[in-house]
Amino acid sequence: MSGNGTADLIFVNGAVYTVDAARSWAQAVAVRAGRIIAVGTDTDVREMAGPGTEVVDLAGRMLVPGFQDAHVHPVGGGVDMLQCDLHDLSTAEEYLRAIGEYAASHPDVPWILGGGWSMDAFPGGTPAAAALDEVVSDRPVYLPNRDGHSGWVNSLALKIGGITRDTADPADGRIERDPRGEPLGTLHEGAMDIVGAHAPDPTPVELYEGLLKGQAYLHSLGITAWQDAIVGTISWANNLETYVRAAEAGDLTARVVGALWWDRHLGLDQIEELEAQRARGRAGRFAATSVKIMQDGVCENFTGAVLEPYLDGHGRATENRGISFVEPELLKEVVTRLDASGFQVHFHALAERAVREALDAIEAARSTNGPSDGRHHLAHIQVVHPDDIPRFRELRAVANAQPLWAAHEGQMDELTIPFLGEPRWRWQYPFASLVRAGAVLAMGSDWSVSTPNPLEEIHVAVNRKMPSQYPHKVETDEVFLPEERLDLPTALAAFTMGSAYVNHLDADTGSIEPGKYADLAVIDRDLFAAPVEDIAAATVDATYVEGERVYATEGS
Ligand SMILES: [Zn+2]
Repeated sequence: MSGNGTADLIFVNGAVYTVDAARSWAQAVAVRAGRIIAVGTDTDVREMAGPGTEVVDLAGRMLVPGFQDAHVHPVGGGVDMLQCDLHDLSTAEEYLRAIGEYAASHPDVPWILGGGWSMDAFPGGTPAAAALDEVVSDRPVYLPNRDGHSGWVNSLALKIGGITRDTADPADGRIERDPRGEPLGTLHEGAMDIVGAHAPDPTPVELYEGLLKGQAYLHSLGITAWQDAIVGTISWANNLETYVRAAEAGDLTARVVGALWWDRHLGLDQIEELEAQRARGRAGRFAATSVKIMQDGVCENFTGAVLEPYLDGHGRATENRGISFVEPELLKEVVTRLDASGFQVHFHALAERAVREALDAIEAARSTNGPSDGRHHLAHIQVVHPDDIPRFRELRAVANAQPLWAAHEGQMDELTIPFLGEPRWRWQYPFASLVRAGAVLAMGSDWSVSTPNPLEEIHVAVNRKMPSQYPHKVETDEVFLPEERLDLPTALAAFTMGSAYVNHLDADTGSIEPGKYADLAVIDRDLFAAPVEDIAAATVDATYVEGERVYATEGS
């Protein structure tokens, strides 16, 4: 109990899970001028109500700190929602029907864009141009998959990109080919750009609409802050101005940290430009204070950087160790310079060699610069060599987990485990080991790669099984590496305080404590009162930022 005077807003009769240091519970919360002024019992808090106070009766529902997504792409996700959106579908037939219908209902769009297909819907994860040609042949089609690392194109798009059987693979990507050597219609990583470069970029108006669409969607899931994992002024990620304009116009209701894109084709010289973008990228609730370095790709297309080679389909070692997008010695210098400049570094570090290279780079920065408050973080951390787990604590590197992927499903069982092999596949998503070793854990979704619903992600973090409503193929009921399950308090704390820490917002958000912003989410039930198998069945009834309601279901 603290504070005095009249509250603008009170929540009573609830299960208030504060995520304070003691993980304490309360019944009621009072808010004035956007800040929490009291946390306590109904009696304590009702005393602070006056005639003008809004009273929210939680009726036993759960009140939590607003969720914070530590790695998300809301502008692109929002733009996708406005284009040919395949995320909620799961079979080749459904995709082709949706693409055909979208093309027919949008006769004026020059390119069919959007995406979100899943590799496990196709043999070998690689769909063909011929299938697309049957539904759209008059216009080019370019559709990235749900993780954004592979693209599906039709024959006209291949032609526009000039891709033939004679086109060599680029250094940072691969053109999928049929047995005769002809381009099949799937392009991986850097090869996507050969076609993608010809597709029209979203206009500033479309980007702005995309941001607002994405923001509304994230608020509907209880999210009040996030880190945008790619912010830039480049053609395909031209969203820095979008955020600045939205923040200045008062349209940005979420708190957002922007991670500025590190262009791996440029060198250290770009730091000056990034510093200029950081200076420009500060407005209202937005701050572009992080730099995103993509160090490798993903395992499903063998571009994730591994220490020992991938196996082939028969369990034999190949020559392929994936791709380190930034040469490891250069990476050390880059991270040291960014750290000295006061940037946070946000790594895409997915497989075990990339994780090691990222940790080595932070180690180099620490030894040159001494400790910093950069809160550098490694996102994805799909495969972590056991020797590297204690280094997260030692180096004050934050583990930024995308827990939805830590389960048996088609992409994992058919496209990942056989190619990682024993024992390496067991090193995947070692969240509990990291926590036991003292690492700070944050969480995020990587939407639009996968659902941004924190309750579904927390469900998988706790159960290591997909929720029953998951739209993609799951053929086993087996728990994925059960020793790496987290308990519910740890997962909730990672999605609130942990991500607030990464966003340098922990002094003002991340828990329900007097003095902090009233950034809050009302969940339709007390998650602790039901079996953990039911976490994903819960939904968010209302979301508040600084005491303003930014989302509510009808009737709540
Ligand atoms: Zn991402």
